[in-house]
Amino acid sequence: MEKTFVDGLRDVFQSGRSRPLKYRKQQLRALLQLMTERQAEIEEALKQDLNRLTPIENDIKLAECEMAAWAAPQTVRKNFNSALDDVYIKPEPLGVVLIIGTWNYPWAMIFQPLIGAIAAGNAAVVKPSELSEHSAKLMKELLPLYLDKEMYKVVTGGVPETQELLKQRFDHIFYTGSSTVGKAVMEAAARHLTPVTLELGGKSPCFIDKNCDIAVACRRITWGKFANCGQTCIAPDYILCEPSIQDRIVEEIQKTLLEFYQMDPKSSPDYCRIINTRHFDRVLSLMNECTVALGGESDRSQCYIAPTVLRDVLPHFKIMQEEIFGPLLPVVTVNGLSEAIQFINARDKPLALYVFSSDKTVIKRMLTETSSGGVTVNDVLMHYTVDSLPFGGVGNSGMGRYHGKHTFDQLSHHRSCLIKSFALESLNDARYPPLTAARLSK
Ligand code: NAD
Repeated sequence: MEKTFVDGLRDVFQSGRSRPLKYRKQQLRALLQLMTERQAEIEEALKQDLNRLTPIENDIKLAECEMAAWAAPQTVRKNFNSALDDVYIKPEPLGVVLIIGTWNYPWAMIFQPLIGAIAAGNAAVVKPSELSEHSAKLMKELLPLYLDKEMYKVVTGGVPETQELLKQRFDHIFYTGSSTVGKAVMEAAARHLTPVTLELGGKSPCFIDKNCDIAVACRRITWGKFANCGQTCIAPDYILCEPSIQDRIVEEIQKTLLEFYQMDPKSSPDYCRIINTRHFDRVLSLMNECTVALGGESDRSQCYIAPTVLRDVLPHFKIMQEEIFGPLLPVVTVNGLSEAIQFINARDKPLALYVFSSDKTVIKRMLTETSSGGVTVNDVLMHYTVDSLPFGGVGNSGMGRYHGKHTFDQLSHHRSCLIKSFALESLNDARYPPLTAARLSK
């Protein structure tokens, strides 16, 4: 059979080139060099793709610094039979990893898993999103200039190219994107029994308890919701609160929007745009049945949708059936904590959950009675920034985890190693046939 380019990468991987930590460190340094030397070009590409640069330099430095410890064999507890042996777990590279990324943070969604893939000693193929085309084009141009081009490849293209790529056998697939495409990726991976990490999305709820600092809560929520025009996988999707505080919440968000984007968010350099007209039309159509409390303006020629708050949204509205991924913030009212918990549990397990409360009992109940990929209490998005916390979904919001050491672990095989000596063979008699009474009593 003719060799594919993935087979070629696997051959280079199998030569052992990426095994020495020195090689991995050198590749990570080259990636850091790419990010620093080419920052202006990357920022320009991102501007054209309507996004901001998410810094990943610290992720590279962390991997470079900690890699030796992460890759070291970990000795484990022994049992009676292995008391005299070496027993340890050795992380080893998996082989060729496919990384498929999204358009909303085009560099971070590719480079964060790539850092882990390099640190773990793998070869990798990266497939940036075709929707952030300027970033994808630049990535394809720059990566071979800095990294070992026989070990790390960039493939660009859209759905047909990705589907073609998915026919090949990889040793791991790391996919970031929607749950619908995640299912197609998992199906394709199943054909080769390839393990997958699926970093998906969903509706991340945000519960505001009446017993909390509502002004601070709304300031933090406004930041997390409207950054990148709501196109963030862990953006708070909707607010759950009691009817008595709905007006106050709208008022506080209004104040904050004025502070952040002044009177005209459209002319604010800090306010982004929707990625394309297809998503613009999709997001706008979600507003149909809703009562606009703030914002609501839009301009299709610029893919602009104002920061928008929708009040008294009902659970059966279209906006509550899918991830919004845009600057619309529905407020759904519930009668207290128990109803909020029921509301959350009646839906898919979210990628993130946010709870604002000054009451420890409320926080405790929310944490013990619900499930989500991650949770931040009294803030939004910030659990993502703590690299010692594993980041990932649960149920429909994904499987597997990454960030910091967790990316290294995710893209390594944790090999069980038992190293015995030839000594004390008589101790093994009890397990060899014939299993006579005399032997068993030994
Ligand atoms: P997208 O359209 O950029 O698609 C993601 C990738 O999948 C792209 O590389 C694309 O080429 C490929 N793709 C699309 N359709 C495909 C198909 N039918 N077959 C094979 N490959 C296909 O991004 P998107 O899906 O619109 O991204 C938005 C979603 O991603 C949201 O749900 C968001 O919550 C989620 N997301 C999750 C995370 C996370 O870390 N969990 C991060 C960012 C985005």
